[in-house]
Amino acid sequence: MPEGPEIRRAAEQVATAIKGKKVEQLFFAFDHLRHFEQLLTGSIVCTVDTFGKAMLTRFSNGLNIYTHNQLYGRWYCCKAGERPCIKRQLRLAIENSDHAALLYSASDISVLRDDEIGAHPFINKLGPDILAPETDVPMIIDRLQGKRFCGRRLGNLLTDQSFVAGLGNYLRCEILFINGLSPARQPGQLDSRQTERLAASILALPRQSYETGGITNDFRHAKQMIQDGATFEEARFRVFRRKNKPCYCCGTTIVRTIQGGQPTYLCPNCQHDSH
Ligand SMILES: [Zn+2]
Repeated sequence: MPEGPEIRRAAEQVATAIKGKKVEQLFFAFDHLRHFEQLLTGSIVCTVDTFGKAMLTRFSNGLNIYTHNQLYGRWYCCKAGERPCIKRQLRLAIENSDHAALLYSASDISVLRDDEIGAHPFINKLGPDILAPETDVPMIIDRLQGKRFCGRRLGNLLTDQSFVAGLGNYLRCEILFINGLSPARQPGQLDSRQTERLAASILALPRQSYETGGITNDFRHAKQMIQDGATFEEARFRVFRRKNKPCYCCGTTIVRTIQGGQPTYLCPNCQHDSH
C-alpha cells in the first residue's frame, strides 16, 4: 500500500502533468460521478494536494476530486490520448492538450465542493500530515504524551491516521526498529528521551523516504549495498520484508508477525519489550 511519501511523489507527478492547465477531457468510470465530467471540463487545475494517503486535485470552478489509492490504486502520467499497456481498470482520467493523469484500480473517488472538504469523513479525522512543513517534533511529542494516545500500543497507533497522517506499514515497522521499541509498547511507558527520539523519527523517516524514493535504511548503507550488487528492494529497508535475514545491528534473525491485521517485521533482540 502506498504511504504518505509515495502519495506525495505521485501528486507531484500528477501536478507536473496537469497543474495550471485547462481540462480538455475528463473521464470517471463510476456512474454516480459521470455528471461531473462536463462540469469539470474547461476548468483549470489549481493544485494537487495530499492529505496523508489521500490526494485532492483542486479546480478553478470550486470543485475538487478526492482520491484514495487504498491497496491497489495507481497513478500514471503520459501524453494526452495515450494509455499505458497495463491490465488495470481506468477509474479517472484528467487530460489537457498535452498530458493525461490517469488513476487506475482505485475505488475511493469522490467530487467535493471547496466547502465540503473539511467535512469529508477521511479528511476530518486526520492528524497532522507527516510531510507538511508545519508539522514539527514538539507537536508529535504532545500527541504521544496526551491522554488520547498515550495508552495505545505503538504498533497500532502509528498507522492510525488520526494520530498522524501518512504513516503506513513499512514506515511503522522501520520507525519502531530505529527506536528499539516493541510494537506492544505504549507512548505512556517511554521516558522523555525515548519520546523525543520517537517523535523525531516519526517525522525524519518519512521525509527521508520521500527524498530518496523510498529508502528508510541508513542511506549510506543502502547506497553501498546497491553498489555491491543488491537490488533497490533488498537495500531499502532495515527490517521490513527482511524475514529470516540478520538484523543489521545485532545479527539476530528478523521475524514476521501479524499485528492489527498487518505483517510486522522486527528484531526480537533490538526491540525487546523491556527496552
Ligand atoms: Zn537487532
